[in-house]
Amino acid sequence: MYFKEKTVIFYDGEYTLATETHTSLYGQTLHYGYGVFEGIRSYATASGAKIFKAREHYERLHESCRLLGIPLNYSVEALTEFTYEVLKRNALEDAYIRPLVLCDPNMSLINGQPTHVFIGVWGWGAYLGEKLLNLRISSYCRPHPRSVHMEAKACGHYVNSILATSEAKREGYDEALLLDCDGYLAEGPGANLFFEKDGKIFTPKLGHILPGITRATVIELCQEMGFPVEEGRYTAEDLFEADGAFFCGTGAEVVGIQSVDKKTFHLDWPDSLGARIREAYLNLVREKSAHAQAV
Ligand code: PMP
Repeated sequence: MYFKEKTVIFYDGEYTLATETHTSLYGQTLHYGYGVFEGIRSYATASGAKIFKAREHYERLHESCRLLGIPLNYSVEALTEFTYEVLKRNALEDAYIRPLVLCDPNMSLINGQPTHVFIGVWGWGAYLGEKLLNLRISSYCRPHPRSVHMEAKACGHYVNSILATSEAKREGYDEALLLDCDGYLAEGPGANLFFEKDGKIFTPKLGHILPGITRATVIELCQEMGFPVEEGRYTAEDLFEADGAFFCGTGAEVVGIQSVDKKTFHLDWPDSLGARIREAYLNLVREKSAHAQAV
């Protein structure tokens, strides 16, 4: 359950109870997937709740709206302030944050106005769990970037994600890995992909994937830790020959991959660069230094 009787949400400028806030059955977002959202996390730190990369997430929300022609009248600063207030009113520090910009009743296929802004928060553990993942290369490919704006976090894109995850789980895997429409490695249904080979880190380049904020953070961490990173177009064969791999995303954080289509990697996860990146990421989001974590 994402809300309880007393859960407070932000909706159109007001803090209201989730149980008492309603939206239309005739909205464009519900019917056509024409809306945008974000997935953000806040962490309990020594100085209280800290939203990780709030600016980057709300800038992406604005960019998603711009690309789709959906008006969003709150600034990045205002959205961040509303979010801290929702966290406070729900007494949550470690939380998942879900902002959603949804459109009014309109059954036509032109961009409608006005829009509504929802921000909900709830406690949510690592989205893909803590254990290593067994992936299946999906029979679905990511949408073509000339069909939709792949860099937008649009609601409707997640039909593709639901199809891929459901297929993978139906066949006994933990999660899917999708290729792009040209057959190159793309991303997971809700996370970006990295793999390592001979001490070097590789990740699919932008274009056919969501430009993940965790992906950008991982690239920065690799640079700080002195691990060379390369962004490019890679094939499933490149991945099969890798020493290790991981998914990353706000919900998933950094999670190791055990196998892809039942093929395992050369390194055990604890010996991989991925495991060190995971530790650095978890320290960063909780504002702990590596040293403080170790003692
Ligand atoms: N790709 C997809 C398709 C996603 O849904 C997500 C989660 N938002 C990501 C990648 C990772 O993005 P981020 O690190 O910004 O959460």
